[in-house]
Amino acid sequence: MRAALVCGAGGFIGHHLVRRLKQEGFWVRGVDLKYPEFSPTPADDFVIGDLRDPAFCRSIIDRRFDEVYQLAADMGGAGYVFTGEHDADILTNSALINLNMLDACYKRNIRHIFYSSSACMYPAYNQQDPENPKCAEHTAYPADPDSEYGWEKLFSERLYLAYHRNYGMEVRIARYHNIFGPEGTWIGGREKAPAALSRKIASAKLKNLPYIEIWGDGYQTRSFLYIDECIEGTLRLMRSDFTGPVNIGSEEMVTIRQLAQLIMEIAGVAVEIRSIPGPVGVRGRNSDNALIYEKLGWKPSQPLRQGLEITYRWVEEQVKAAIAAGKL
Ligand code: NAD
Repeated sequence: MRAALVCGAGGFIGHHLVRRLKQEGFWVRGVDLKYPEFSPTPADDFVIGDLRDPAFCRSIIDRRFDEVYQLAADMGGAGYVFTGEHDADILTNSALINLNMLDACYKRNIRHIFYSSSACMYPAYNQQDPENPKCAEHTAYPADPDSEYGWEKLFSERLYLAYHRNYGMEVRIARYHNIFGPEGTWIGGREKAPAALSRKIASAKLKNLPYIEIWGDGYQTRSFLYIDECIEGTLRLMRSDFTGPVNIGSEEMVTIRQLAQLIMEIAGVAVEIRSIPGPVGVRGRNSDNALIYEKLGWKPSQPLRQGLEITYRWVEEQVKAAIAAGKL
């Protein structure tokens, strides 16, 4: 039986990945500081522990794994990453996890490891024009990410590549671009734009509020990738002979206002969009899928609306329950 280790299995992408690996017949061990928030994990074994501790990392690799997925990170949306208030934690926590996991895998003779980097590592100077951001893989240098989160991702990419060069580790590196879907964080400060806007629009609909607030002028552009396509791309990359780094993202770029409009259409409600000051990140960002298509013969293709419909319905259910419980 094939076996997989998923670090960060209590988080959004990790939980979905465990589900998919189980469907494929893997024996799966999940590891995280916490269990998944919204539904039980289907992992065969789930270990609660702290990957910043090297001894813990060694202890979870007590058997053969065909595939190791390292998704654990100290992470969140713009409200967590771009305020600057969490920089020391973000850099330290995520770097320690990657240093420990790579070393533990190497010492325990596990060779095949996937690392989830982020589009946040691309240089800010290429993302100032909202109409024409440059995020092809080769544009990463000279480096100038706009957040410490992005700098840590870049450092860790280089760490994985160095273990590949020096120790023959079969690493696979993806640069995820704004992944969204059901069972993602939707409230509390770490949520990202699709979930945050779904929450605001569902609240406006259910409580008859006349407007929603968005951070910045709303003309900043992004693309958003539905979770199922993220998992598909991750597995295809892992099982290919291409090391990466490679973008896993959508090329359907929208402004934050367009995203809000789309969600309002899905929700069947129309309210005013008001701008307020807030952390916004770079002016424009979009995936460039030329390389993934060249190397894997595959790229994400699902329209944004399709994933948003599923995600909005899920967030609306959460909002309804929170209102009923007097929490919102
Ligand atoms: P998430 O925050 O939902 O999941 C990360 C998990 O890591 C959390 O469950 C957290 O508890 C766990 N973790 C953090 N510190 C830990 C520690 N010391 N020991 C054990 N577990 C620890 O995030 P996600 O959206 O599922 O993202 C997964 C990965 O993909 C992360 O590395 C993230 O940086 C990367 N990524 C995500 C996106 C996105 O849009 N979601 C975009 C780019 C990159």
